[in-house]
Amino acid sequence: MTADGNSNGIGAETNDSAKVQHVDALVVGAGFGGLYCLHRLRKLGLSTKLFEAGGELGGIWYWNCYPGARVDSDAPSYQFFMEETWKDWTWTERYPDWKELRRYFKHVDQKLDLSKDISMATRVMSAEWMPAEERWTIKTDTGVVVPAKYFVTSTGYTAKKYIPDFKGLDKFKGVWHHTAAWPQEGIDMMGKRVGIIGTGASGIQIIQEIGPQVKNLTIFQRTPNQAIAMQQEKLYAYEQNAEELLCWSYGRAQRLLRGISLQS
Ligand SMILES: Cc1cc2nc3c(=O)[nH]c(=O)nc-3n(C[C@H](O)[C@H](O)[C@H](O)COP(=O)(O)OP(=O)(O)OC[C@H]3O[C@@H](n4cnc5c(N)ncnc54)[C@H](O)[C@@H]3O)c2cc1C
Repeated sequence: MTADGNSNGIGAETNDSAKVQHVDALVVGAGFGGLYCLHRLRKLGLSTKLFEAGGELGGIWYWNCYPGARVDSDAPSYQFFMEETWKDWTWTERYPDWKELRRYFKHVDQKLDLSKDISMATRVMSAEWMPAEERWTIKTDTGVVVPAKYFVTSTGYTAKKYIPDFKGLDKFKGVWHHTAAWPQEGIDMMGKRVGIIGTGASGIQIIQEIGPQVKNLTIFQRTPNQAIAMQQEKLYAYEQNAEELLCWSYGRAQRLLRGISLQS
């Protein structure tokens, strides 16, 4: 048994000061990248564990659960292309929202049997290469210590939130949140006075969604971005069978390479 109770064949020993889990490979981050690494490394026969700081699979789709958070690539191209993951899955929208992405990650988990090797709510705090042992020593905020030959960081490139050093923010009496760390239980903004800072992809998404709900909305925009109409569409299973998906994705990829996908 491993320190978190999973029985997955990974050698583990526990003592009072630290829970030690020996693995061949340790992956950090349960987004698209980390989950794929976990799957591939296991297929190579390596005993592998994955640690994720968040509370559910999905990476940014766990943290970015703000109103309107959705994919802005065409859905069939934004997924794993392993047959076992797309075969029984149908996207319902061209630009699915974070709730559908969470359902998708549950589906992937079930198909690839990932969770047994994942510890959620576990943040990696340090990783040190030990030349004598030729292993990494990885430590977490839960007190687990992992000696591992391979250490793979799939910690994302849009996962770290940036909060500008706004003067007086610490004295602000209202409620404030960052889209990349949205409360999992949501926020009721119905009839409220709301300000949004920034009009990048997340700003534009949340503005569209809460605009009709709030009493008053003020948008603070330093730099205007070019934005085009979303052109959301419902998607159906018959559009997503394997052959069509491949042809569709190939055609779409070609168009994307030529520039922005404006419409099909
Ligand atoms: C709202 C939004 C919409 C997006 N839409 C698109 C899109 O339409 N198309 C597109 O191509 N890309 C899109 N992206 C970019 C997105 O980052 C990638 O598509 C993809 O999800 C990145 O996956 P990842 O596995 O690399 O990283 P992430 O999904 O960022 O996962 C990294 C994970 O690592 C975890 N982590 C980090 N540090 C630690 C630590 N020390 N210990 C433990 N865990 C840790 C984090 O908690 C996180 O869950 C979007 C991003 C956002 C924010």
